[in-house]
Amino acid sequence: MAIKKDVLPEVVKEKERAFQKFIQTEGLKTTRQRNTIVNVFFSLKGHISVEELLREVKAVNPRIGYATVYRTLHLLVRSSLVEERRFGDGLARYEGHSQVEHHDHMICQNCGRIFEFFNPELEALQEKLAADHDFTIHRHRLELYGVCNDVESCSNHRKSAGKGKTEN
Ligand SMILES: [Zn+2]
Ligand SMILES: [Zn+2]
Repeated sequence: MAIKKDVLPEVVKEKERAFQKFIQTEGLKTTRQRNTIVNVFFSLKGHISVEELLREVKAVNPRIGYATVYRTLHLLVRSSLVEERRFGDGLARYEGHSQVEHHDHMICQNCGRIFEFFNPELEALQEKLAADHDFTIHRHRLELYGVCNDVESCSNHRKSAGKGKTEN
């Protein structure tokens, strides 16, 4: 399954700079391998598993191994530039562009596709519910599980997608 790579170079640059700042405040050293991983990650869109990222990283530098990719992803999560998500299958997926715009997810339990949505009315309703409970929301995640209504595209996707791969 092809991962979308249509992220603008200046957006990638901006994320790289933000990560660099985090590295400095943490007192960590900059490493070339880590820079490569960060660059590759932010060039990808969607919900990326460690394995998917490793495959893309190896295409750039075959010497980079799983452990380095894994550790770098965890640094990215700590930096708050990346969010870790686990949907129905329990596989950790990483998303780096959610900071820009908040969104929620619908997950097809048949083909594994992940659809993103954002609904201002739903967001407002959550705020209202919280206010009714004298509660302040810091963050939320909403995941809707079900199946695609377009049976043909759903089963086509299922056939073409391997385990742990998503289109998004
Ligand atoms: Zn998402
Ligand atoms: Zn489906």
